[in-house]
Amino acid sequence: MENMSDERRAVLTAVCDTVVPAIEHEPDPHGLWARSASSMGVDDAAADAIAAMPPAQRDGFGELLDALAGQGFVGRSQASREQLLRNIALVGGTPALVGVGGLIRLTLALAYGMPDPSTGRNPMWSAWGYPGPVTAEPASDEPLRTWSPSADGDELEADVAIVGSGAGGGVLAGTLAQRGLRVVVLEAGPHLTERDFLQLELPAYEQAYWRGGPQPTADFNFTLLAGATLGGGTTINWTNCLRTPQWVRDEWSAAGLEDVGGDFDGHLDSVWERSGVNDGCSEPNGTQQRMREGAQRLGWHWSVATRNVDPARFDQDSGGFIGFGDRTGAKRSTLKTYLVDAVAAGAVVVADCSAREVLVEGGRAAGVAAVWTDRASGRRISLTVRAPHVVCAAGALETPALLLRSGIGGPAVGRDLHLHPTIAMSGVYGEDLRAWSGAPHAVLVDEFESGADAEGFGFRIEGTQYAPGLIGSATPFTTAAEHRRQMERMASTGTFLARIRDHGGGTVTLDAAGEAEVRYALTDPIDVRTMHRAFGALARLHVAAGASELVLLAATPPVWRAGDDLDAYLARLRRLPLRLGGVTLFSAHQMGSCRMGADPATSVADVRGELHDTPGVWIGDASAFPTATGTNPMISVMALAHRTAEAIAHAAGASRPAASVPV
Ligand SMILES: Cc1cc2nc3c(=O)[nH]c(=O)nc-3n(C[C@H](O)[C@H](O)[C@H](O)COP(=O)(O)OP(=O)(O)OC[C@H]3O[C@@H](n4cnc5c(N)ncnc54)[C@H](O)[C@@H]3O)c2cc1C
Repeated sequence: MENMSDERRAVLTAVCDTVVPAIEHEPDPHGLWARSASSMGVDDAAADAIAAMPPAQRDGFGELLDALAGQGFVGRSQASREQLLRNIALVGGTPALVGVGGLIRLTLALAYGMPDPSTGRNPMWSAWGYPGPVTAEPASDEPLRTWSPSADGDELEADVAIVGSGAGGGVLAGTLAQRGLRVVVLEAGPHLTERDFLQLELPAYEQAYWRGGPQPTADFNFTLLAGATLGGGTTINWTNCLRTPQWVRDEWSAAGLEDVGGDFDGHLDSVWERSGVNDGCSEPNGTQQRMREGAQRLGWHWSVATRNVDPARFDQDSGGFIGFGDRTGAKRSTLKTYLVDAVAAGAVVVADCSAREVLVEGGRAAGVAAVWTDRASGRRISLTVRAPHVVCAAGALETPALLLRSGIGGPAVGRDLHLHPTIAMSGVYGEDLRAWSGAPHAVLVDEFESGADAEGFGFRIEGTQYAPGLIGSATPFTTAAEHRRQMERMASTGTFLARIRDHGGGTVTLDAAGEAEVRYALTDPIDVRTMHRAFGALARLHVAAGASELVLLAATPPVWRAGDDLDAYLARLRRLPLRLGGVTLFSAHQMGSCRMGADPATSVADVRGELHDTPGVWIGDASAFPTATGTNPMISVMALAHRTAEAIAHAAGASRPAASVPV
């Protein structure tokens, strides 16, 4: 194994078996307690994962394993090893905290997420009735026609080159191709079809998610999730469709996008219809039922989720796997809608093709320089698209990086990144919730919706995708026995998320290799206050729904048990830091890092979406949002892209008028 000596390898096995040891426990009908990490091959998989990491990260883990070897880790008792891991994390500063936490999370993600190759299922799952893959045969839809370059230095010509094929890029591609423009779409991720969606978490992360799955920010304060495959986030997201709230539209109007306040409904209606949004596929699972009952008892406002899913193809159990891509073909992602329109109208779609730079000649857009990778051989070749219009729709993490690499966009590029910071609180109920079945979002609690709040910054409460590896790795690890106790009752554990609409923001800059580096410190006083209100709401909702125990996902969270003083518990939660080592913060909604606006000092694109400093370059994704929506952003991204498409069609002299375009 590259870079791993026998000594390091032995320590790694010992770490894995410290985090997931064989524990004698009665009863243990499914062998959940008896299985150690190494008995499931977790140490081998962890060694492979570390070997595949970028050199700096790999070396960091190597040094940590050396430090543990120096402390005689392998020969110590379980209790002493657990203590040593805690001590190193506590006194070793940020790198040690990150390293120990990283090893623990890697072990847990593999122990609970990795399928046994001989059965295709993880042996731990049977303990809580998680079935693993449920859809035997994938849908046999005709795959989208894509194109690949054959020789290094190939060139394409187009009227519009679009970087990214997700919510924004997909809509722009379909709309502009139907307007008669020659469109080329470059997508860094692979072209996956139903056949590739295995309903397994870890392969899904590896093939369809940004940087291979849940990723820490550079300051380790947040875990980021984003799609990176043809169709972008829409291929792997949870299909909760919400229209841009009127008061957000008014805010965007005030930022200079004047028509959005009044005249945006046509765009929203159009993408809503093409995506087939309906409320007929939102049957609640046990967790969602508890959420609804809790809200009803408290008199809080709740609603049934509207989703871009085809009711004729929807199946409740398979619906719980959609975060891993949809094997049934029911999900109406851009891969099934706008990209199909684009190809039918003559667009060229290139997957596995990463845009490195926007080409600028004479001060305006001239095309895109990209690198295409042959997945089978690893061969990389360059591809240039020559086009007078370039749309950056690589998502709010990568669009700023593309502009920064290209030296365009002005001083606001990469600023004002909004994340909709998200926390998770689990409640323990007395019954099997079958939380793996059905839509992650079927019931929504919108009592604390941002607009209703005096400051304009509230939060939404939603369910979550059942992902055993992520659940295992995010469940607080204090001791191995306590972690296993929590995993044992996973069938009766329901998790609610709270997502706050953030007032503060983070940044995207470039690292030494020219790749996106994301930082976000949740210190804005409004956001801290909103987060603290969200703790209280999550706890009260669970308690009203009948939970007997509450755990906020955090490094070392206090636990509430029925009978405990809830206010005292909430006071303890408010003392937890909102960063690395404290509350676990997630984001699946990245927005605003190249925003539209009237002022070039504070925005990247003008009010139509074109760069202030480089004519012909447009922002077409969530990074264009002037402020965070507070709602799940997909429909807003699509509607704003639909609006930007009109401006591009006008600027590019589209031959066909919008009215003649079938929706
Ligand atoms: C797990 C998860 C669940 C979600 N659930 C919901 C939900 O239920 N409802 C909702 O409204 N929103 C949801 N979202 C968010 C939603 O999917 C995103 O807000 C939306 O997809 C963003 O659209 P976008 O066009 O900005 O970027 P994306 O859809 O992310 O598309 C960007 C694309 O650009 C590609 N790309 C990046 N860099 C390059 C490059 N250099 N060259 C070429 N291509 C590049 C990426 O691979 C990606 O495919 C979810 C997100 C996640 C991760």
